[in-house]
Amino acid sequence: MQKIIDAHVHLSERQDDALIRFAQVNGLRYTLDELLGTMERYGIMRGLLLSPPLQGATSLPNDKIITLCTRSDGRLAPVITVEPTPKDVKAALKLAEENKKEVKAFKIRLGYVKASAQSPVFNGLYDYAESERLPVLFHTGDTAFSTGDLVHSHPLTLDGLANKREGLTIILCHFGNPWFEDVAELIYKHPNVYADISGLITGSKGYAEKYVEWLAKKISEAIYFAGGAEKIIFGTDYPVTKHSEALDLVRRLDVEEVDREKILWRNAERVFRL
Ligand SMILES: [Zn+2]
Repeated sequence: MQKIIDAHVHLSERQDDALIRFAQVNGLRYTLDELLGTMERYGIMRGLLLSPPLQGATSLPNDKIITLCTRSDGRLAPVITVEPTPKDVKAALKLAEENKKEVKAFKIRLGYVKASAQSPVFNGLYDYAESERLPVLFHTGDTAFSTGDLVHSHPLTLDGLANKREGLTIILCHFGNPWFEDVAELIYKHPNVYADISGLITGSKGYAEKYVEWLAKKISEAIYFAGGAEKIIFGTDYPVTKHSEALDLVRRLDVEEVDREKILWRNAERVFRL
């Protein structure tokens, strides 16, 4: 069976989870049991668990993410979400230090928080991430809610940070959708910049089939532009995108099998040191 790593998963098992509406659209129960069962069915050996947004402006506390990962029996590994206040940065670093063996990355919710990638509040986080060789994931592109701030979530806002910190591993979530070409340039230009292909498909609106074709074409073209698939990482963004649809997208890419393998697990295993 093909080995797969899902580098972008959400879960809370709480009623005030703001991703429940995506779970409903996708017909998902959005529970740990369902998630682990589905991973098993599709041959997904590991997943990285990220805090989902809650109703209001907050996201699930990071200690709850650690607890869920513990309950998963090693199948899920935690990514610590960092909010742009000195207090939150300090707490995130403390938690990462206390759970050093488990924590695989940090995440910054660009577009949802009032900060840019280069806000000085994150300097301590970037220093720590660099020294511990922990990647930082950034939400980029379209936001799940209409109130999101696209000026802060545009992928080109990461160019300056990548220039300044060549030792920091930067991962652009959702391939900057719809700015695929900007992300193609960023992963081509910067040795330390990667992109995940999670959360690109949700529900079925008009032209759903054409849209998936368009996505596969855009991502394939980014791979041609970058000259390879070393910088592209598979993720679902469960419950936003169903496992079947996320894997179908990879299947549709017009690339060689060795590149599909890099996307499905080799790159993630290397970058997150799994
Ligand atoms: Zn996500």
